[in-house]
Amino acid sequence: MLTTRPRGTADILPGQVEHWQYIEDMAVRVCREYGYREIRTPIFEHTELFVRGVGESTDIVEKEMYTFQDRGERSITLRPEGTASVVRAYLENKLYAGPQPVKAYYIGPMFRYDRPQAGRYRQFHQFGVEVFGAQQPAVDAEVMALAMDFYGRLGLNDLELHINSLGCPTCRIVVREKLQQFFKPVLGELCPNCQSRYARNPLRILDCKSTRCTELALEAPTTVDCLCPECRTHFEQVQQYMLDLGIPYVLDKQLVRGLDYYTHTAFEIMSPDIGAQSSVGGGGRYNGLIEACGGPPTPGIGFALGLERILLTLQKRGKLPNIQAGPVVFLVAVGDRAVRESFSLLARLRAAGVAADMDYQGRSLKAQMKYAGKLGVRYAVIIGEDELKRGSVMLRDMDAGGQREIPAGEVIGALKDN
Ligand code: AMP
Repeated sequence: MLTTRPRGTADILPGQVEHWQYIEDMAVRVCREYGYREIRTPIFEHTELFVRGVGESTDIVEKEMYTFQDRGERSITLRPEGTASVVRAYLENKLYAGPQPVKAYYIGPMFRYDRPQAGRYRQFHQFGVEVFGAQQPAVDAEVMALAMDFYGRLGLNDLELHINSLGCPTCRIVVREKLQQFFKPVLGELCPNCQSRYARNPLRILDCKSTRCTELALEAPTTVDCLCPECRTHFEQVQQYMLDLGIPYVLDKQLVRGLDYYTHTAFEIMSPDIGAQSSVGGGGRYNGLIEACGGPPTPGIGFALGLERILLTLQKRGKLPNIQAGPVVFLVAVGDRAVRESFSLLARLRAAGVAADMDYQGRSLKAQMKYAGKLGVRYAVIIGEDELKRGSVMLRDMDAGGQREIPAGEVIGALKDN
């Protein structure tokens, strides 16, 4: 156990972490351009927040939460998703009293106790955005556009955006009744899970992965068929904005997101080439959530994108950039005096903003050069007895292979712009 990490978790090692930073930097950049600002909330919250904010009849709350009693005997849960925490922070810090809308984003780990497999982990990472206090359909389009823009900039231009409208609570009553009427004659054929969903939340039957339920649901009434005039107009306008932006989408009437609080626009982004766990992100509007968490009636919309699955997709397609994250310069010193000189040159190089390193193992000249090669540095600066005598250093271009002797005083100037 001492040297084994818990199932469903990962170590992100040097060499891998650069790809994470690349993806995270892209998220930060896109959010900045769209006017979203970062919010950081705790990794754990009071359990009630997720029970209320994610919804009692969801898989997350029913079976996936990491919940424990802390030493003060409070029930605490490691966050399984980001939205509930951002809603809590919005309310607790009275952000609703400031200028609206509030546009926020987060990047960080989430925790769900699920059966691990490729693309599904117990600790995974999401990049998410939330917009609170804006009802206009243009915001729905902006949020989806932001997600697609982010993927596009990473080189993923052909992911499929599926969209649907779940309507408002009034539409929900109509669809609920129609679904119950529709499934009543085949109730016995549904899986046990869906039999209990039938009374509680029949919409979730459309989301079931079992073959028989999927078959039975094919002809079922859909939310889009039950929209009230207002919701219909909202959804038409969202689609018009998407057309205006030139963002292709698939109208997916069967799309029902796993969380209870979604209203109006719901969407999911699929990557065809990462196997069973093909959803790389999803989101939607949740106009009832903030009120359900004890706040003033406030519209909200957001998404969460899974970073592991984005990384998997980029890997599969060979779209990960080659990132040289190590030092640019390696100082190769031979002899005690040269080591001392190098150590002080190292500090001056770093102060000038040059990423530099040197040998601390007492290696021979040859072994130091070999090590510099392994590090992948662009330059080696070689200082031996002869160079010391002449007040010079040997600057070797590791890529081109050539080397030239330059005065020691010029080495920082020569390397500064690399
Ligand atoms: P959700 O919060 O369930 O809507 O998930 C949003 C996105 O997070 C999904 O599309 C996945 O990309 C990612 N995701 C959700 N659960 C996991 C998990 N257990 N492991 C890895 N990624 C996940």
